Amino acid sequence: MCTKIYPPGMCVDDRLPTSEQFAVTSVNGKVGMGVKSLLRFARGALVARFTGQLSNKIMQHTLQVSPDTHLHDPWFVGLLTHSCAPNSVLDMQRLEILALADIESGDLLTIDYATTEDVLHRQFACGCGSPACRKWITGRREHINETGQAYLLGLEARKVKRIHVRPARRSIR
Ligand SMILES: [Zn+2]
Repeated sequence: MCTKIYPPGMCVDDRLPTSEQFAVTSVNGKVGMGVKSLLRFARGALVARFTGQLSNKIMQHTLQVSPDTHLHDPWFVGLLTHSCAPNSVLDMQRLEILALADIESGDLLTIDYATTEDVLHRQFACGCGSPACRKWITGRREHINETGQAYLLGLEARKVKRIHVRPARRSIR
């Protein structure tokens, strides 16, 4: 029960995930760690339960339970990768992960950080590849910071440049 995902001291509930069900893995060397499912889940299914330590601080690997309470889980759910079109969603009252889409064995579990967090530990650029990608991720109750505004302006400038450059190239040929 509760093997290798959570440390022995956290294994108070035998319904917590095991390393036969999920693998904590590095993701592209860039994004940091992620969690891969080793099982298949149908859309709507309970994927896993999770646990952690309650804190009044927002840290890396915390998830918001209420405006003043955050669950620190650097072993499992705090490692889930962000996507703007995620395959999973968290129920922060029941401490459960539910499948938003069919999940195949080998798929990374992904969640939209803005669905649980008012304010992120750190805002970041997103390259999740979804057509609905917001490009810069914030909590649901915070504004895009200066770094994010500069990043989005840069993206926009590159897009404008591409649009202007293409016809010029065509006219040369
Ligand atoms: Zn995205």
